Amino acid sequence: MTIYSGPVFDMCKRQFDITADYLSIPEDERRRLLYPKRAIAVSCPIHRDDGSIAVFEGYRVQHHLTLGPTKGGTRFSQHVDIGEVAALAVWMSWKCALAGLPYGGAKGGVTVDAASLSARELEALSRRYMVEMIPFVGPRTDIMAPDMGTNEQVMAWFMDTYSMYQGHTVNEIVTGKPVASGGTEGRREATGLGVAHLVGRALDRLGIAASGSTAIIQGFGNVGSVAAVALCERGLKIIGIGDHSAAYFDPRGLDIASALKHAVQHGRLSGFSSELEIAPDQLLLQTCDVLVPAALERVITENNVAKLKCRILAEGANGPTTPEADALLDLRRDEVFVIPDILCNSGGVIVSYFEWLQGQQQFLWGKEQVLQQLYDILDRTFSRVVTRAASEKISFRAAALAIGVEKVRSAKLTRGLFP
Ligand code: NAD
Repeated sequence: MTIYSGPVFDMCKRQFDITADYLSIPEDERRRLLYPKRAIAVSCPIHRDDGSIAVFEGYRVQHHLTLGPTKGGTRFSQHVDIGEVAALAVWMSWKCALAGLPYGGAKGGVTVDAASLSARELEALSRRYMVEMIPFVGPRTDIMAPDMGTNEQVMAWFMDTYSMYQGHTVNEIVTGKPVASGGTEGRREATGLGVAHLVGRALDRLGIAASGSTAIIQGFGNVGSVAAVALCERGLKIIGIGDHSAAYFDPRGLDIASALKHAVQHGRLSGFSSELEIAPDQLLLQTCDVLVPAALERVITENNVAKLKCRILAEGANGPTTPEADALLDLRRDEVFVIPDILCNSGGVIVSYFEWLQGQQQFLWGKEQVLQQLYDILDRTFSRVVTRAASEKISFRAAALAIGVEKVRSAKLTRGLFP
C-alpha cells in the first residue's frame, strides 16, 4: 500500500523500475531509493475578495535527504495531487544527482487555478502555504523554488513570510526570487537558456546549422518563452507555439517578440492571431528540427509518438514523454535526438544552487558569471550522458537516469542505514 498513486507517479515508478533493472539494483534497495522520505499535506484557508472563505489543499514531498537538503519547485495548478508532486520530487532527485548538486529532490503544490485568484488572494494563499510549511522546510532542510503557476513574486512572498517568523531575513529559504529581494541574476531565464544551450549542443553533434533551423514550442510560460527568444537569438525560426489557451503555426516563422508582448499583456496566447491558429493537439506533430515540450507531463504518448516529425526533442517540461512512448522513440534513436528532461531543464536548479550559495555567503555574482558556470555544468553533464549512452549503447534518457540513480544509490550505500 502507498499513498502515491495516479498516472504521473505510475510513470515515474515505471521509469525507475526500468533503470533499476538496467543497473541490477537488488529488490530490497529499490523501495528505499524510490519512495519519498516525507510527505506533508496541509489545508490552506484564505479570505476571498467577496468575504467568503476558501480552503485549498497543499502538499510538499521531500524525496531523500542523503546528499544534503531537498530542493524543488512549488506548483499552483488545478491538476496537482500528491502522486504528481511525489513524481516531480523523485525526478528532481535524479536531476540534481546528474548535475552533481548537493541536494535531494522535493516538490510542492497547491490544487488551485491560480489564474482565478486576484493578486491579493494569490498573496494570501502563498503566505498561508508557507506558514503551514514552516515546521518542515529550511535553508538546510528543504529549499523551495518556482514551478508552473508560481513565479518570482510568489517566491518573494514565501521568503518574506518565512523570514518574518524567524525574526530576520532568510533569503536562502527559496530560490527564484526577484533580484531586488536577494535573488540571483540569471535565475528567471536559467531553465529556458539551458534548454536553448543544449539544443545548440545537439545541433552541433548532428551537424545541423542553427541558422534557418525550425523549432516548435509547447508552453509559453517561463521556460517556453525564454527558450523561444533564446533559440531565435541563435538563428532558429520558431514556427509553432502554444499554451493552455491556443496554438499557432506558421512555416515562415512567428513573430516571437509580438507573441511575448501579447502573452504578457493578456496572460495567455489566445487572440494573438486568427489566421495562424491550429488545433493544440496538432502542434507537436508538425515537421520541425527542434520540438520543445515546455508545459505539462505526459504529452508525448504511445498515441502520438510515431507522428512526431522532429530531429531533436528537447524536454523543457518535466516528464513530457511516457515510458511507453519512450520505448518507441528508442527504436528511432538515429532519427530523433532526445535531450531528456532531467538534463534538458536542469538549468533552473543549477542556477538555484548558485542563488542558494550566494544567499548563504552574501556573494553577489553578475549574470555573465552565473551563465558561464551554468553552461560549464550543462556541457559537462551533456558530455557524460552522451559518452555513457554511446559506450553502453543505451538511449540518452537511460544514460541520464542511470547516472542520477547510481549517484543517489552509492550515497545511500556508503552512509549506511541508521540506526
Ligand atoms: P509556467 O507556469 O511559467 O508556464 C506553463 C506554460 O504551460 C504556460 O504557458 C501555460 O499556458 C502552458 N500550459 C498549461 N497547460 C497547457 C496545456 N494543456 N497545453 C499547452 N500548454 C499548456 O511554468 P514553467 O515554469 O514554464 O514550467 C513549464 C514546465 O517546465 C513544467 O513542466 C515545469 O515543471 C518545468 N520546469 C520548470 C522550471 C523553471 O525553472 N520554471 C525548471 C525545470 C522544469
